[in-house]
Amino acid sequence: MIHVLKHVESITQHRDRALLELGVASALFELVKAREVNLYKIVGEGATRCLERMTHVGQDGVRYAQEFGADGDMDAVLLDTRPEMVACVDHAQIIRREREDHGGHAHCFPISVDRGVLGVLEVTCDAPLTDDDLGTAEGFLGLYRNYLSLLDYSERDTLTGMLNRKTFDENLAKILSSMSVGQVGDDERSYPRRRRQQDDGGHWLAVVDVDHFKRINDQFGHLYGDEVLILLARIMRDSFRHQDRLFRFGGEEFVVILRAACEDEVQNALERFRLAVEAYAFPQVGRVTASTGYTRITPTDTIPEIVGRADEALYFAKENGRNQVASYETLRVAGKVSVREKPDSDIELF
Ligand code: GH3
Ligand code: MG
Ligand code: MG
Repeated sequence: MIHVLKHVESITQHRDRALLELGVASALFELVKAREVNLYKIVGEGATRCLERMTHVGQDGVRYAQEFGADGDMDAVLLDTRPEMVACVDHAQIIRREREDHGGHAHCFPISVDRGVLGVLEVTCDAPLTDDDLGTAEGFLGLYRNYLSLLDYSERDTLTGMLNRKTFDENLAKILSSMSVGQVGDDERSYPRRRRQQDDGGHWLAVVDVDHFKRINDQFGHLYGDEVLILLARIMRDSFRHQDRLFRFGGEEFVVILRAACEDEVQNALERFRLAVEAYAFPQVGRVTASTGYTRITPTDTIPEIVGRADEALYFAKENGRNQVASYETLRVAGKVSVREKPDSDIELF
């Protein structure tokens, strides 16, 4: 009992999702004497749904993916290739199967919260779990689910369900620290990310602002304005890849953090989103457009510098006809925006 409580205490001290997941997986590994425990996140939609491994605890050690950067390309499988996982996810049921590869019994537990089944916890043991062990696993899963709901509540905007401003600051700070020399790859226990990050080209930040949103509120009322924001968030989720991070920055302003091989890829993704908004028939309101400014994130940047550059490009888009995507770097080469000096460290830009 004391042993279990120690695990609970260690799990509940975490506010970081990756460490929380590691705590749950490690506790189960020890308590039910598992061969290995894996925690998967479900990403993507329909036939392209993937299982992305976030945490592994086994006799070969412990590995976990950092919150941002675990793109699945290093450790992901199509959900449809694992029928027991499909059954677990689609029916939100615990599924057990004998593993043909290394023998043993795998138990798949759905991780479901209000938004649906977000992932699967897979516990592999030499023999099927006893009722007692199943109870232990379900108890820890319940604890984890409750914690996820709390984290969700503190990380998301209530109107659109998008990540909120506080989460944006934390995410961008994490990206910056992972980009700074010597930091990524030093942690032997985390999945290797450095090489992928170099291969992937880099990170980009875009600020999206609805055009003439005030008019929508004035003409149709605040409730219709709110509906536009909810629908816009949906279009955003459909337009960008699952590894791109979407935030509601405040009011009718959104931020996207993208990873891409080159600027063309970013421009194309943002343009695709712009066209999707332009083409959408918003109930009652009709046509709505949005303008976007974006910039490349570099390792020596601070958060105010990055947002400042994207804002400058956005300002240019607004001043030059709206309903368009503008790149800070392209504008700077063309001499259309000023080269930004590094702000004084004690001046708050936003
Ligand atoms: P621009 O094209 O230059 O961006 O013009 P704009 O009218 O979109 O920009 P402005 O900043 O003047 O107006 C933004 C408006 O967004 C003002 C504010 O009342 C409204 N707003 C902010 N948050 C919300 C919200 O949560 N719901 C609704 N309905 N309106 C909001
Ligand atoms: Mg605005
Ligand atoms: Mg606006």
